[in-house]
Amino acid sequence: MSIAVPKIGSHVRVTTMYPNTYAYRGENDNYVSYTREGVVVQSIFRDPFMFAVKTGDPDHPVSEFNAKSQHVVKIEYIVGGSKQVATDKKAWKVKSGDGKSFYIVERIEGKYTCTCKGFEFRKDCKHIGAVSKR
Ligand SMILES: [Zn+2]
Repeated sequence: MSIAVPKIGSHVRVTTMYPNTYAYRGENDNYVSYTREGVVVQSIFRDPFMFAVKTGDPDHPVSEFNAKSQHVVKIEYIVGGSKQVATDKKAWKVKSGDGKSFYIVERIEGKYTCTCKGFEFRKDCKHIGAVSKR
């Protein structure tokens, strides 16, 4: 799997959405949305999914974004484009002890999950152990 990250020099409009944390929010403003537009520059973070947008706005001269974040809901390209950055997502089918069924072990960004009951309760299981040793 890979994620589209805006290339440096591109002109983009980024829309983000965050839960509205104000105590007296109404029924229709459970989320607050922000839009930032500008030229993509090098992020200060050493993360291939991070990109920075130079807006020219005195209040927010540079905004940092994570292309993988659920809060980044839309990236529009006015000029330029994106590059694909691969994510560390892998999945394995592991047979159950009796060999009659199987479980799915997934590794996403270094974290393992399994579909078995043991993992549900202990957050670890022998299926993950078998896969991570490979
Ligand atoms: Zn398991």
